Amino acid sequence: MPRHPTTSAPRDADERRGKPVVAVYSVDTLPNADMEQLERLRQTLETVQEIIVPPRAARTFQVPKGQFFRINSIEGAQVGDLNLWNANDLSERFFSGKTRALHATHITTGDQLWSTMPHLRPMATITHDTLDWYGWDEDGAGVHDVIGTRCDPYTHRRLTGTDYHFCCHSNLTRALASERNMSTTEAEPLVHDVLNVFMCTGFTRDTHQYFMKASPVRPGDYLEFHAEMDLLCALSACPGGDCGATHSSDVPACHPLRVDVMRCAPNSGRNGPQPDR
Ligand SMILES: [Zn+2]
Repeated sequence: MPRHPTTSAPRDADERRGKPVVAVYSVDTLPNADMEQLERLRQTLETVQEIIVPPRAARTFQVPKGQFFRINSIEGAQVGDLNLWNANDLSERFFSGKTRALHATHITTGDQLWSTMPHLRPMATITHDTLDWYGWDEDGAGVHDVIGTRCDPYTHRRLTGTDYHFCCHSNLTRALASERNMSTTEAEPLVHDVLNVFMCTGFTRDTHQYFMKASPVRPGDYLEFHAEMDLLCALSACPGGDCGATHSSDVPACHPLRVDVMRCAPNSGRNGPQPDR
């Protein structure tokens, strides 16, 4: 909604607006991941499982603590919506909002994906991002956002009056229900705000509205994570495809994504259960 102020600015408006900017959270004091060690370990990775996520669908996969996983673009530009749960307690799940508050609107190598309270601990660390060159573009957009929640049939119905059943929310719900042999009614409340992998988004400068533009991802690109706990993950190949025009629709070209679950080579000494830091 365009804003049309009805209140005249006070005399000291400039002074009030001119206060210094302070980062809400200084992440310098967080117990950061040991990126040097993770970089050494990732040189030894071997794939133990490959999962293909078909277009407009979701699949689940498990990643034991200490292993890695990669989300790969394989056939064309495609956005993926990622959910993470503690595999041993689904009530602990990815906390997109706090991850955004701690790190940034878009996350990359070295950032961590935090879990819901009362746990609030790292679930995964991003260890490699082939799109890290993108940075922030002239529209203020970045890649891999923790802003957008996930496309869902409820918002779609509010906006259009029509139903669409292959939104990421629905895909993730069905995938979790199938994985844990539960009904979709039981699974749906466990689905949560996502990491929008490969999605290119920002806020418009004039109205600060959430916008998307075509993802810069190309086949061969990947985003890689180190599991900081035993993870159950679900990934949806968004019906928006590269999310350059629309979503929640069968119109955009959509492509599969491939997930590689990877472990360190046996001589790296890192495949057993890992002690807590
Ligand atoms: Zn989606």
